[in-house]
Amino acid sequence: MRLDKFLSNMGLGSRKDVKSFIKKGRVRINNHVNKKVDTQIDPNKDEVLLDQEKVEYEPYIYLMMHKPGGYVTATKDNHDKTVVDLLQEEDKVLSPFPVGRLDKDTEGLLLLTNDGPLAHQLLSPKKNIKKKYFAKIDGVVTEKDVEAFKTGVNIGEGYITKPADLNILESGEVSSIEIAITEGKFHQVKRMFEAVDKKVIYLKRLGMGKLKLDDNLELGHYRRLTEQEKAILN
Ligand code: URA
Repeated sequence: MRLDKFLSNMGLGSRKDVKSFIKKGRVRINNHVNKKVDTQIDPNKDEVLLDQEKVEYEPYIYLMMHKPGGYVTATKDNHDKTVVDLLQEEDKVLSPFPVGRLDKDTEGLLLLTNDGPLAHQLLSPKKNIKKKYFAKIDGVVTEKDVEAFKTGVNIGEGYITKPADLNILESGEVSSIEIAITEGKFHQVKRMFEAVDKKVIYLKRLGMGKLKLDDNLELGHYRRLTEQEKAILN
């Protein structure tokens, strides 16, 4: 792999940034300064240092995005903008894909990775991973709905949802709630509220398992997961 590509893939900057580090002599390969951007390296064997610090080879990428509305959760789409369109070119090179799906109008936490086994594990129904959402509901949400969601509601074709925790934050003509579900059926939260004759008018995912949406991440922005966040996913 080319040295500039390697450094950029490891998240150390854009291709332009890393070329500049290399030309300034800040990069060493096997303890020799290397100022050529196109030097071929073997990431599994060669030791690369940037400013004396070892650059660890990490073939996987893990991104936390604050998904905005108006983007479909896909890597490609013929009609709509996708969440992958929000990524910088240097983050696209490792081909991350979204883990699970949020509706086009849903905002909030979205994980993107190229780690297939991890994605599979997080989406496996057997794992019962809790997904937590904040929602605004057109209608008065009541304790009766809390009970109904605890028991399970029919969201169509006789499918009864697994127990879900509904927490009413504010009940009124427009109610604010938080809900935690362990399943990921198509339009699940919206269909659960339809089952109790109410309509979701705003939906935002706050967490997935122990991973929480970073409050400092602006809508449409994303960042790499920290080592700690990566560890809690496994
Ligand atoms: N439930 C929904 O209805 N939509 C989402 O995007 C996520 C969960």
